[in-house]
Parts: sequence; structure tokens; C-alpha cells
Amino acid sequence: MSIETETGFATRAIHAGSVPDPTTGARATPIYQTNGFQFDSVEHGAEIFALRKQGFAYSRASNPTNATLERRIASLEGGETGIAVASGQSAWLIVMLTLLASGDEYVGSRLLFGGSLGLMKRLEQRLNIICRWAMPTPASIQAAITPRTKAIIIETVINPTGEVVDLPAIAMIAKAHNIPLVVDNTLASPALLRPIEHGANIVIHSASKFTIGNGTAIGGLVVDGGNFNFKDDKRYPLISESWEEYDGIVLTEAVPKAPFAAACRLMGMKELGPSMAPILAFMFLNGLETLPLRMAKHVENAGKVAEFLEAHPKFTHVSYPYLKSSPTRDTALRICPNGAGCIFMATMNGGRKEVNTFISKLKVFSHLVNIGESRSLVSHPASTTHRTLPLEDHKIFGITEGTIRFSVGLEDAEDLLRDLSEALA
Ligand SMILES: *Cc1c(COP(=O)(O)O)cnc(C)c1O
Repeated sequence: MSIETETGFATRAIHAGSVPDPTTGARATPIYQTNGFQFDSVEHGAEIFALRKQGFAYSRASNPTNATLERRIASLEGGETGIAVASGQSAWLIVMLTLLASGDEYVGSRLLFGGSLGLMKRLEQRLNIICRWAMPTPASIQAAITPRTKAIIIETVINPTGEVVDLPAIAMIAKAHNIPLVVDNTLASPALLRPIEHGANIVIHSASKFTIGNGTAIGGLVVDGGNFNFKDDKRYPLISESWEEYDGIVLTEAVPKAPFAAACRLMGMKELGPSMAPILAFMFLNGLETLPLRMAKHVENAGKVAEFLEAHPKFTHVSYPYLKSSPTRDTALRICPNGAGCIFMATMNGGRKEVNTFISKLKVFSHLVNIGESRSLVSHPASTTHRTLPLEDHKIFGITEGTIRFSVGLEDAEDLLRDLSEALA
């Protein structure tokens, strides 16, 4: 039986990609905290550097601890190859720069994590990588596609609204136009949604959230689904054309199952250099072991908190898609039947002053801008994460001065509801 492809999700979360250390028998993945790896001979070093032989040379490009994490996230997402990088933000950067060059166009969702929107705008301003903005709906994306579109980028579950996009329908459109579909799956995690199963081609995670699970490390992950045919596709020269630095190697021939990931590693990791420290890869591996258990509890607690807030007279709107009142409930139930995580927005009567009074009285919830950790969190998007967006964009997210983003943690639900009740009283 193959652990990576023939076992259940919980088994893979613990075992995929890892074997007992061949020299010591260590069962947990050791932290290979070394920059360099000794060559057997000059010829051996030369073979590795020319990509004719697989092996480790220098940890900016690859490291055995990181490689275990990369195999595990690829297995959990049902993809071919993973890449571990320094942050979610750098995962976005290397994916975009592997697919797109100056003058290129892509279609991007208007509803994305604030940091991603900032990066996209900066790449357009500085490098002329042009975004055609669309709402993350099949119709809007279809309408934004032109013959020059080289990628489509969306979030599967939207930060901060928690709403679930119609991934299969968007994937069908991407496929019909032969455009790679890149998705940020941070908010769902592979425990609740595996986008490659729905037709996505490239998956991005901020590992800083549910992967680590307790808000103690920044990291990013990329998974190449291996399901987009880049062969001879002149639109993606890093992937389909020869690399002079490596004696004319063509990645679609040398690494036919995951040439996109190979290009990400050579350009994104080796050249741009946003590597993950091996000690953090070890922490992310430990985090993933409990991912399915944690996600089930996050979903259970989030449902209770969302229902409580919706019923409370001081709140006017709760964006949690599993509420009976939500207009996107059917999509959420269809695409993420076991829940879509624990992040959503709730809007209070009043504005910043009322929000401040409420938040300052919370004892179990912490007031900070992370998501997806064991602790329950609240933040005020209008003054923090979404501060620099134009008001028009606040409107499409549904953010007002009274809006609070919730990330519901793993505490006892009774304590969360009591904390909210007491702070609202
Ligand atoms: C946090 C986040 C990112 C950025 O990740 P960092 O690890 O903070 O760099 C990207 N996408 C989403 C959806 C996020 O929530």
C-alpha cells in the first residue's frame, strides 16, 4: 500500500512523505539545520548542479526536512509536487513570477487577502504585470478573460468573508480557455477542500495559518497539481523552453510530471531566494499531523459563534455561509460539505466606537490580525488589514466601520459564547 496515495487523509497528515531516518532510525523527521551537503566528488557536485542527478546541494533550493513537508502537502492536496517557502506572500510571488513576465496579463479576483491585493497592484505598477480584475464568480471571470490571459487567480474560501467560490464552474472555464487556475486554499485547508480534485492546477497556502495552527511561525506552500499541460506552450518560457544555465534543459521534458514546480524551485527558490528554515519545516510537519482534528473543531465552534452573533440584536449581518440566511449557503454546502473553516465577518450596529467598546471587553478572544490559530481572534478590517483599500473595495467585501473579522479557535464553545455575551452586555 502506498502511504502517499492509498491511505485516508488523517493517515497521510501524519505519515505522508516521511520515513524513519535511514542512519539513526529517528521516527520524527529530523531537523537538517545545515546550509550545505557534502559532495562525493567533483563529478557528483557537477552532476547535481547541472540537474543531471537528484541530490541536495544548498538549502536555499532544497533541504531534506523541507522536502518531507513538500511531499506531505502534495499528498494532502492530491497534487504532484510541493514547494515550501518563507511566507504565504512569497508563495504568491514565486507563483506569479514563474507564470508571468512584464507585459503579461492575468485575471485576478477582487476578493482576496489584503496582502495579495497589495502585491498584485505593486507588480502591476513596478513590473507591468497586468491584472484584469473580476469578481470570483464564473460569469465575471469568463467576461474578464481575453486571448492574452495567462493565469486566473482566486481564493477558494474568501478572506475575510468566509464565502466559498464555485470552484468546479471556474475550473471548467479555465480549462475551456487552456489557462492555468491558481487558487489560494489557506482558509479551507486541504482537510476541508482539495481544489485539485475540482480542477484547479496550482494551490497556494499561507502555512502561517491552519498548517501551523497556533500562530507561531510564518511560512508558505505551493502545490503543483501536475494537471496542466505546459509542454511546448510558448506562453510559459520558464517551464516550456530551454534553460541555458543548465545546458539547455527543458523542464517539461526533464520533469514531465511537475515542470511548474521545477521552474518555481529554480527561479523562485534558487534565484529569488525566499526559503523556509528547516526548523520551521519541522514545526509545520508537526502542525499538519493534527490538521483534520483541528479543522473539525474549528468548524464546530465557528458555527456556534456565527449563530450566536446572528441572533444577537447588536449585530446586523454575519457573513458565515452556513447560516440558513446566507445567499451563498448552497454553494458552500456543495463545495465544502464539512465546513469551510472558521473565518467570517460580523457587522455591529454603530461604528468604530461600538466595535472598540466590545472588543476591549473580550477576555477569551484576542484582538490581533492573524487567522487560523488555536486561540479565537477578532480584528477590525477597516482600520488594519483593509485600511489602504479604496472605499469602493470595502463595499464589495461588505466591510464597514462596524465590521469585525472573527477567526474562531479551539476553546470550549461555552466559554466563547459567554465571553461574547459578557462583552456585549
Ligand atoms: C495570511 C494570508 C496570506 C499571506 O500569508 P503570510 O504567511 O502571512 O505571508 C495569503 N493568503 C491568505 C488567504 C492569507 O490569509
